Amino acid sequence: MRSLKGSFGPVGTLGREARMTTEASMAPPRDMTRIAFITAGLAGLWVAAHAAGLLGPLNPATFPILSIITVSSILIGVRCNNVTVRWPWYWIAAGVTLFFFGGVARAGYETLGVISADRNLIPDIITIPGYLICAVGFFGIVRSRQRGRDNEMDALLDASVAALAAMALGWVFVVNPTLLHQSPLSVRVVLAAYPTLSMFLVALTASFAFTGASRGRANKLLLVSMAFVLFGDIVYTLIETHTISLPSDIIDLPYAISFVILIGAVLHPSVESLTTPATAAETAPTLGRLVVVAVALAIPGLITIMRVDAPTPDRIAMGVIVLALTAAAIARLFRAVKAHARSEARLTHQATHDMLTGLPNRAYVHEFLGEALTRAREHQTLVTLLFLDVDRFKLVNDSYGHTHGDAFLLAVARRLRESTRPTDLVARIGGDEFVIVVKELRGETEALDVAERTRKLFSEPFEVRGAEIASSVSIGVSIANGRDPESNAESMIRDADTAMYGAKESGRDAVAIFDVSMRDRVSKRLDLERDLHHALERGELELFYQPIVDMASGRVRGFEALLRWQHPAWGMISPLSFIPVAEETGMIVEIGGWVIDEACRQMAIWQTELPRGEQMTISVNLSARQLRDQSIVGRVQNALGRSGLRREALTLELTESTLMENPANAAELLTGLKDLGVHLAIDDFGTGYSSLAYLRRFPVDIVKIDRAFIIDLENEDSADGSLVAAIVAMADALGVTTVAEGVETETQAERLLALGCTVAQGYLYSRPAPVETVPEITHRLEARARARLRPVRDAFSA
Ligand code: C2E
Ligand code: CA
Ligand code: CA
Repeated sequence: MRSLKGSFGPVGTLGREARMTTEASMAPPRDMTRIAFITAGLAGLWVAAHAAGLLGPLNPATFPILSIITVSSILIGVRCNNVTVRWPWYWIAAGVTLFFFGGVARAGYETLGVISADRNLIPDIITIPGYLICAVGFFGIVRSRQRGRDNEMDALLDASVAALAAMALGWVFVVNPTLLHQSPLSVRVVLAAYPTLSMFLVALTASFAFTGASRGRANKLLLVSMAFVLFGDIVYTLIETHTISLPSDIIDLPYAISFVILIGAVLHPSVESLTTPATAAETAPTLGRLVVVAVALAIPGLITIMRVDAPTPDRIAMGVIVLALTAAAIARLFRAVKAHARSEARLTHQATHDMLTGLPNRAYVHEFLGEALTRAREHQTLVTLLFLDVDRFKLVNDSYGHTHGDAFLLAVARRLRESTRPTDLVARIGGDEFVIVVKELRGETEALDVAERTRKLFSEPFEVRGAEIASSVSIGVSIANGRDPESNAESMIRDADTAMYGAKESGRDAVAIFDVSMRDRVSKRLDLERDLHHALERGELELFYQPIVDMASGRVRGFEALLRWQHPAWGMISPLSFIPVAEETGMIVEIGGWVIDEACRQMAIWQTELPRGEQMTISVNLSARQLRDQSIVGRVQNALGRSGLRREALTLELTESTLMENPANAAELLTGLKDLGVHLAIDDFGTGYSSLAYLRRFPVDIVKIDRAFIIDLENEDSADGSLVAAIVAMADALGVTTVAEGVETETQAERLLALGCTVAQGYLYSRPAPVETVPEITHRLEARARARLRPVRDAFSA
């Protein structure tokens, strides 16, 4: 930017422009596009008119006016376009101001074309800092776009590489060939500096013009503006070195155009987006950058070939340029490699760490344990692994939401990390599962101590987003010495996991240390699961029936079907041990379907064969899993259809917890079942949520009072008497029948009758029995009923 030859002249046209820009300062931002184009357009027309000679040559007033408009446009543009990062623009405005004074000085000292030692360097000493100040401004823009990403150095290095390459080219092909023998080194350096510096500005603006496609016009305009400065500087260099000559009134045209475009850029609303941070994708290194670096590296070679005969000072200058160029290019490559290494490291970190808590993950634990076991073998020490499972984490998630759930896990991770030694490993290997590996403990007692301490870490509630979440943890411990060939990372985790299940079973909030019997239990369960798969097809499943009796008359009202598994090797297996497995694996859907079919088929037969069988009912237990899909209604309907059993003769028993698992869904399904005409019973009543209110919510016909309440009826003064009385009263009010479960003694039966409960089931009448014994049991119970009724009748007939 070596123009501004004119001195302060008349400022005739300033009035109009100034008015426009003051108006602009008050205009809303959306009008800024128009204002930008009008201002730049008018300035452009004016410059063009000068260039075409319509208003005479670019007169001395042109550049002062253009400079003033440019500086005020910058000041107004950043304000009206709500630019948040303003300081870079003030630097650019300062740079433009220096260009102006530099131009004034150049005209005053008339240095244009003076290439001897007499050249007065003052104009250059004013102008060159102008470039540097502008560069600071552009760098500020780059920086605010790259905020936090540490890429701005890349842009700076790229620009240096481009500038030095330009300098090398200018030096070798323009400055030296013509000036080598007439000009001192200082003049040649100054002349070569101009295109170099403008190249630097072009490269800096290019670095943001080409990142972020949707950034609007301002960044492209800025690049074009700098390109015109570069063009102007090249033209000047050629003129100063007397390589070309041009009419004096057009040599400043590129600068004038660059000002006009700069005015358009800063007034345009998109100038605001220039300093807003770019997204990661926008800052990804481009192929273009690599090409620049490669070309830059090739240049020194070319130069060496061409300049073998240069004199010494020239070679030194050349050597400095080449060295700087190579250093910049290498630094750039070095940074690229470092960035690559960093992303590589980030990838490995991601593969071995948990995203949420940043703790190591399962893969890491494996590796760590492997090394720890090797060390333990060599140094005769122990490795202890704690397997932690947060108790009822699902509840936290369900009642507070997942965001709180995540924050809670983070808090747990932090507490665990803070309370362990730096040499211990704390890892997260599943949703709410954490692992702590402790090296060099002396034995089981110490291991249990550590586990107990860890368990107690949960006794203080966790502060989670303003909420206090109380929690507990179940911990399984496994210990290994590294000498057992069977023990490895995998087995240690599995054993501790098994022990953790033991801790859960003992009622949670507990510590359990692994022993081999636990492994047996687990393998037994696995065997059971495997065999259960075939139990149905192999005919090993069977229904037992337990009568439900009307206590007052002693007559049989019906039966409950209870599942039995006759295992070929293990004998009779209780439903209490295999139904949970069937539920967990989903096999219960198929098995339960079979139970419904079989029970309906059997009852249909009994209704014709047993005395007063036509009034009897059959009860079938349903588990939560069976209620999870809509198909249950169809299954029940089919079973009824196939067996020909009357609908009212079938009762489906569901526990409170089954209903509460998904109350909305359950209510809908129960209505579906109810519409079929079957009866519904709540099983084990009183053990679950125990809210009588639920009775009203679901369309139930029968409430089965849990055995726990019946046992205590034995003592006259037990509180359960009043509880049973309350349940019966409530049920009566709702027209629901109560059935007492597990009645074993006459006392219980009598008290139940006194409390108003008339229907019972229990060992007092019969244990659940195989199908072939049911007629006999029925006869016995009927006979007993007759015997009990006879004295009453006799009394009447007497
Ligand atoms: P439940 O539905 O509460 O069945 C009653 C349980 O109490 C039966 O145990 C029965 O043998 C027992 N019982 C009956 N009277 C007395 C008594 O006077 N004293 C004592 N101590 N116990 C008595 P069982 O047959 O072992 O069944 C256990 C549980 O297995 C059942 O509890 C039920 O929840 C489940 N179950 C059984 N069969 C099926 C089935 O086909 N499907 C599903 N989903 N669950 C079933
Ligand atoms: Ca039942
Ligand atoms: Ca029950």
